[in-house]
Amino acid sequence: MAEPLFQKVTLIGLGLIGSSLAHAMKRKGLAGHITGSARSNKTLKTALKIGFVDSVFEDAGQAVEDADLVILCVPVGICGTVCEQIGPHLKKGAIVTDVGSVKAAVIKACQPHIPQGVHFVPGHPMAGTEFSGPESGFAELFDNRWCMLTPLPDGDQQATDKMIEFWQACGANVETMTAEHHDVVAAVTSHLPHLIAYNIVGTADDLESVADQEVIKYAAGGFRDFTRIAASDPTMWRDVFLNNREAVLEVLGRFNEDLSQLARAIRWGDGDKLYETFERTRRIRQSILDEDKSKD
Ligand code: NAP
Repeated sequence: MAEPLFQKVTLIGLGLIGSSLAHAMKRKGLAGHITGSARSNKTLKTALKIGFVDSVFEDAGQAVEDADLVILCVPVGICGTVCEQIGPHLKKGAIVTDVGSVKAAVIKACQPHIPQGVHFVPGHPMAGTEFSGPESGFAELFDNRWCMLTPLPDGDQQATDKMIEFWQACGANVETMTAEHHDVVAAVTSHLPHLIAYNIVGTADDLESVADQEVIKYAAGGFRDFTRIAASDPTMWRDVFLNNREAVLEVLGRFNEDLSQLARAIRWGDGDKLYETFERTRRIRQSILDEDKSKD
C-alpha cells in the first residue's frame, strides 16, 4: 500500500466537516493515524464508536502532539482560542489548516499563536449540509466541490502544495486566492443566501395573517428550500456573520438596492423589468447546471 500523505493528522472539532474529512481520509488512506478532539465527551465517544478516528483526547494540546497536520474544524469564532491552546504543543514542520467559512478574521485570530517553523495554510471547503455533529459526516461530502485555500503572502509554498494535494485526494477541486477576496466571494455565494433564508423563514413565522400551522402545512417549492437552509447550525452561522461583517454588509447593501428596484417594478407594473431580471437569473442557473455537467 502507498505511504499515507501524513503520518498523523489531528482534527480539532468532530462535527459535520471534521467527521467528513476523517471519512474522506480513511477512504483514500491519507493518514497513518487520525486523532480527534472536541468540546464534549459525548462527541469523542461517538467518534470512536463510529470509528472515523483512531484515538481521541479531551485536551486539544495533547491531541496535536506529534501531528504532521492539524485541521481546525470548529466554529470560526473559536479558532483563535484553539490556536492559543495548541500553539505550544505543535511540532516543528507541522502544517496547521482550518475549514472556516471566513478567512481574514480567522487568520488574524490564529496567526499570532502559530509558532515559528509551523506552516499555517488557511482553507475553506465550499461544501456542507444543514446537519451538524459527528454522526452527520460522510466521505463524499467534498467530491467535485471547491476548496478555497488562502495562503499567507509569506507562507511556505511546499506546505501549500501539500494541502492542494490533500484536498484533491479528498475529492475536491482546489483554488487559491487572497483571504479578502475569498470573504467577498463567500459573502455573495453562501453567507447572503443563508441570511435571506433565516430572514424569510422568520418573516413567515411572524406574519399574523397566516397561522404557523398553515406555513408548515402548505410549505412547498421555494419556501421549503429556504427552511432547509434556515435549519443550518445557529452557532456556526452566528460566528460567520460576526466575523465577515464588512463583506456581508457590503453585499447586503447591494442586495437591498436591487430588491427595492424589483419592488418598484411590481408597484408600477413594470413587467419588462421583472421579465428581464428573471430571464437573466434563469441563464445563470443554466450556466451552473452546465458547469456541473462538465465535471461529470
Ligand atoms: P459542527 O458540526 O457543529 O461541529 C463543530 C465541532 O466543533 C463539534 O465537534 C464541537 O464539539 C467542536 N467545538 C465547538 N466548540 C469547541 C471548542 N471550544 N473547543 C473544541 N471543539 C469545539 O460544525 P461544522 O458544520 O462541522 O463546522 C465546522 C467549521 O466548518 C466551521 O468553522 C464552519 O464555518 C466550517 N464550514 C461549515 C460548513 C457547513 O456547511 N456546515 C461548510 C464549510 C465550512 P462538540 O461536538 O463536542 O460540541
